[in-house]
Amino acid sequence: MRVAFLGLGIMGHPMASNLVKAGHEVTVWNRTLSPEKAVQGARTASTPAEAAKDAEVVWICVSDTNAVETVLFGPNGVEPSASDGMIVVDSSTIAPSATLRFAQKLQERGVHYVDAPVTGSKIGAQNAALIFIVGGDEPVLETLKPLFSAMGKQTFRMGETGKGHAAKLVMNLQIALIYEGFAEALTLAAKLGVSAETLLPLINASMVRSGVVEYKAPFVLKNDYSPNFPLRLMYKDLRLARDAAKEARVKLPGLEVVEEIYELASEDGDGDLDYAATLKLLQKWAGLEVGVPA
Ligand code: NAP
Repeated sequence: MRVAFLGLGIMGHPMASNLVKAGHEVTVWNRTLSPEKAVQGARTASTPAEAAKDAEVVWICVSDTNAVETVLFGPNGVEPSASDGMIVVDSSTIAPSATLRFAQKLQERGVHYVDAPVTGSKIGAQNAALIFIVGGDEPVLETLKPLFSAMGKQTFRMGETGKGHAAKLVMNLQIALIYEGFAEALTLAAKLGVSAETLLPLINASMVRSGVVEYKAPFVLKNDYSPNFPLRLMYKDLRLARDAAKEARVKLPGLEVVEEIYELASEDGDGDLDYAATLKLLQKWAGLEVGVPA
């Protein structure tokens, strides 16, 4: 298929490369261009409008709601190149209410709009093993099947357009709260004289075990906070979840507390580290040496 891929960050770059490897005709665009952003086998466009011209599918993966709005409707955005039958897919994690607004605007031009945020981090993107959390019409999703399978291992349809982003926010809400429980457990255990190495086999043998702990523990034990999923992006997603909860008039006290921890960790300058680095803040408060718990 002829695909315009917009946004070549941690996730977008490997996703676009995997589309090329699967034999699709890909044109890429990124806001800033540098040699390492080039995608081998893809054409590079200088604006979203140029990339989208003649594309059957426009796939977006940028930071946040404002970035998606700019790419679609800003100067040299996709909108003027949108044509009847074109499919726009957004794999960024953004506000569900904004998605509905964007979809409505583009639907007036005959565009099908699909929200398809992902879970699986950088490694999942590199290994074409992402999980897509999708909102959109069934026949449109059927058309997109070869593209989903080029970049991911599974696709879950959550309902009509907007429901993919809604489900993605509640997934990240859980990840942040589960990791916070793990990080607080490591901190208290260290204070009480039980090391992380001693505690982990117990966690993994009991009902406390989780995918989040399994994935993060090896990094935390090595004091490796290099970003698989940057703290700044998880913080953004927690704010999006809080806004969605407010719009839905739902009170989520755990989310409010954890959001504040991300705010303080960001103020400590840890926004570009992995979100696992929220542990550093707990250790600082506990008077533990930052890094591997004792
Ligand atoms: P990233 O590495 O920070 O890349 C962000 C991308 O967005 C870059 O291409 C950036 O362009 C572009 N961008 C930012 N602001 C823009 C604007 N105003 N106009 C146009 N382009 C703009 O982020 P990422 O990790 O690839 O994440 C992308 C999305 O996927 C986010 O919504 C994130 O929450 C979600 N996600 C990420 C992960 C993960 O593990 N990283 C996992 C699941 C979901 P420049 O290069 O010019 O800055």
